[in-house]
Amino acid sequence: MGNNDDAEKYCGNCDSHNSYIYPTKVFCSTRYAQSMDPIVDTLWHCDSWNKVSQECYCAREALKKKNGTEAAQR
Ligand SMILES: [Zn+2]
Repeated sequence: MGNNDDAEKYCGNCDSHNSYIYPTKVFCSTRYAQSMDPIVDTLWHCDSWNKVSQECYCAREALKKKNGTEAAQR
């Protein structure tokens, strides 16, 4: 652990996101400014992605939920 911090880009670890439907959906202020639909999946990302300056749990919790759902559907 600790050597793959930049392995994944997610809306949930982008500097432009705000929590919307935690943890699966986020509100993207970049898309809002560009008059696009600002509500996006936490595990998606766009070309404007930039690393979040203040660490939060959105991407982590979304991944946990996704993996937990898949495990439950075995
Ligand atoms: Zn967040």
